[in-house]
Amino acid sequence: MPEPSSRQARLERMQRLLEISRTLASTHDLPLLLQTIVDNAVELTQSEAASIMLYDPAKGELRFEAVHGRQKLLEVSVPLKGSIAGWIFHHARPMVLHDASKDPRVYRAVDQTLRFETRSLLGVPLLLKQEPIGVVEAINKREHAHYTEDDLAILETLAAQAAVAIDNTRLLSQLQTVNTELTRLDRMKSDFIAIASHELRTPLGLILGHATFLKEAVPAEYAEQMDVIIRSSMRLKTIIEDLSTIAHKDEGQSRVRREPFSLAHLVVDVVNRFLATAQEKRIELGCDIPEDDPLMVEGDREKIDVVVTNLVRNALTFTDPGGQIGVKAEGEGGNAKVFVVDTGIGIPSSETDRIFDRFYQVESHLTRRHGGMGLGLSIAKAMVELHHGQIWCESKEGTGSLFCFTLPQRAPEPSPASKVFIES
Ligand code: ADP
Repeated sequence: MPEPSSRQARLERMQRLLEISRTLASTHDLPLLLQTIVDNAVELTQSEAASIMLYDPAKGELRFEAVHGRQKLLEVSVPLKGSIAGWIFHHARPMVLHDASKDPRVYRAVDQTLRFETRSLLGVPLLLKQEPIGVVEAINKREHAHYTEDDLAILETLAAQAAVAIDNTRLLSQLQTVNTELTRLDRMKSDFIAIASHELRTPLGLILGHATFLKEAVPAEYAEQMDVIIRSSMRLKTIIEDLSTIAHKDEGQSRVRREPFSLAHLVVDVVNRFLATAQEKRIELGCDIPEDDPLMVEGDREKIDVVVTNLVRNALTFTDPGGQIGVKAEGEGGNAKVFVVDTGIGIPSSETDRIFDRFYQVESHLTRRHGGMGLGLSIAKAMVELHHGQIWCESKEGTGSLFCFTLPQRAPEPSPASKVFIES
């Protein structure tokens, strides 16, 4: 049973350790954290000095990272061979020297630099995921006493805390590097989209214009070839328009009309446009709109047409013959809602958010059977969000998908700062 006074001292030490944990949790300033750790190591183990050394893989030696009482050490390194710290690091085991003054294993260069005498020493490895990354040492137990088991436990706890702090800082710095790189790549992607859509527009316009002219001028036997050129150019035009839509959104140049239109009529129009394709694919396509409510929405009819068109086109693409597609529109508490439901191939639940990212396709573009650039849903999302609405997908692989978007029926009043909505 420990003496009451030693129990009191132990309690105080525990409290100090707890305080350090709190400090560690509240700051990411690594030098400050390591300094706090060595300062406390000195006090809690009643030593004259303490230090944290980290292994430098480039030089193959230990470098002082934080020291208490021997600031000059920050310029000194310790070799792995011929030093106690090197032994502790190499064996990943603690070491205690009660009489270090004549021990040949002590690296004397440090003492000589500082005109300091190492009399006793307690050292523990700094372990990160069981791998040694450095060493923590307490030097010269005060009043010529011996280091105890308690001192060892304290130094090991402090070393564990230093390892966590170092790990956090390294992870944070890696995260920042990756984040900077991602931002740079994203910027490059946006620039590429903007440049490509702008530079392709003019030559394509010329190809289309001349092909349309030539179709009238060439003998009828070449009409079929001319049609192929015109159809393919029109397909390219759609792709370039999709890219420009994205570029405008990125550059904050999207303009949204603010006109009342009937969402119910729009849904019927889009469904009618796809009836022939659905019939060709032997897919049942129907719609369900309220009988007595045109579902008036204030916004840009053309842009919402793109949303419904992309959803219905996808449903037709990813549903096999014999399947069904239903488009439903309804009003609910000031919002209009549109659902596009199909009995197609479905989407794995882990992908239902990512499919709205640009260029994202569930199947790799190298192996997939369907065309497309992975832009349709990201454009739909951009259009819905420009109207302050929301879009999402619920799906079960192999069973079918449900896409839904909502729009406020009354567009929010444009704030002076917002340049998105334009009055018609
Ligand atoms: P794409 O034009 O390439 O189809 P989208 O952005 O429109 O690009 O869609 C992204 C991906 O989401 C598609 O490639 C497909 O994998 C998946 N997807 C979209 N709609 C459906 C659907 N109704 N059923 C199954 N998968 C779908």
